[in-house]
Amino acid sequence: PVKTRFAPSPTGLLHAGNLRTAIFSALLAKSQNGTFLLRIEDSDEARNQADALAAVMEDLRWLGVHWGEGPDCGQPPVNWQQSARAEIHADYFDRLLDSGHAYPCFCTVERLDKLRRQQQAAGKPPRYDGHCAEIDPTEARARMQAGEAASLRLRVPAARSLKYVDIVRGEQAISSDRLPGDFVIRRADGTAAFLFANALDDALMGVTHVLRGEDHIANTPRQLLVLAALDLPVPAYGHLGLVVGVEGRPLSKRSGAASIADLRATGYRPEAVFNYLARLGYSGASDQLETLNDFAQTFDPGHLAKGPALFDYRQLDHWQDLAMAQAPVADLLDAFDSNCVDGPIDTAALEQLVGLVQPNMRFPQEINDWAARLFGSALLASHTEAAQQRMSSVGPDFFTQALAVIESDRGAEWSVLKASLEQATGQRGGGLMKPLRLALTGLESGPGLGGIIALMPAAIARQRLEAAAA
Ligand code: GLU
Repeated sequence: PVKTRFAPSPTGLLHAGNLRTAIFSALLAKSQNGTFLLRIEDSDEARNQADALAAVMEDLRWLGVHWGEGPDCGQPPVNWQQSARAEIHADYFDRLLDSGHAYPCFCTVERLDKLRRQQQAAGKPPRYDGHCAEIDPTEARARMQAGEAASLRLRVPAARSLKYVDIVRGEQAISSDRLPGDFVIRRADGTAAFLFANALDDALMGVTHVLRGEDHIANTPRQLLVLAALDLPVPAYGHLGLVVGVEGRPLSKRSGAASIADLRATGYRPEAVFNYLARLGYSGASDQLETLNDFAQTFDPGHLAKGPALFDYRQLDHWQDLAMAQAPVADLLDAFDSNCVDGPIDTAALEQLVGLVQPNMRFPQEINDWAARLFGSALLASHTEAAQQRMSSVGPDFFTQALAVIESDRGAEWSVLKASLEQATGQRGGGLMKPLRLALTGLESGPGLGGIIALMPAAIARQRLEAAAA
């Protein structure tokens, strides 16, 4: 059975790139009726951030990405929390020591730094020189028992071709000679290093497919060695192209590095974020909003891109517009903050307002701006010079005449009202609508004027047209 996982390190808020990996992993599991596991890789205590796990869960839940195994699923932490697995890891360290695949390394940080600097000065890539590789195991154990600090390194065999078929990139092969030498699997403080814990936990948890960012490609050959040394099954690895900002620049806040929490606070709908991220570096999907379950029906990992994927807010906004058009009125009403208007507004009027302006809204909280424009007694209209010019070009009488019509024909059909307005002002089309709309709402465009006039309280319409005529 297929099992995929998302294995974030709780070091901060999730951004678009991380979340996309989670989405593709969940889609892959779902498409094969498999399981999606959420594992928290918190074994590097120095980097952990309080509340990061709660934030990860909140983001995934918000997006509708559910995990069948992991926190809050009634399973003990030892099933999903790396830091709770120290005893399990210890057992595997012992096995590697016993089999001679691993050895204790007593090199100090200073020695390793010096080695690195020498290699750098010689123009060589960093590589552990095997200084502790040949220490007699009995002697090594005695030194450790005497309390000498030691990390544990996995021996990298010479001239071994390390091969795997990447889900996204196809066949990969690298010679073990090109790796940076025997590598640390247990830090001197006793905690498991990423290369080890990540591969071991995948194997022990039955993970069959690993999708992750291309920043992990260099890790995979060493993880193959860890699994081979332990004689454990190797998952299929797939390395996704990175998410980059516009013009290939690294992600900035304006180009996708915004955390999911930021997008949520801005008013992006979860369907919009999900649908955009699921297509970021994935080709051949439909152009319709889909749920994760719908998307999984046709999901094919062969469509994942190995090149960088461009995070483009214009495309996110396109999905947001589709999502907003379908958003339930109740969700938009939720964003209403009565603080933004003076005096109470009845629910029916508010619902009508949502009905009127929904196609014009990008974010739910814009309802507050519209409420203030239509129901607020303060004249919001901050007219640009061009707008003022347009208003004064029709002359003050225009607004007086319009007001008279609006007051006498209130309640009439828009077509009737419009005809009367044309007659009274001698203006039609844009010549009629633009100044009127500007005077009433302060905007050059927006929802149908008939709807605005019908919904705007008479006293407010009067106040605004009188102000325009003044
Ligand atoms: N904890 C690792 C990370 O957040 C997981 C990498 C992986 O998916 O294998 O980068």
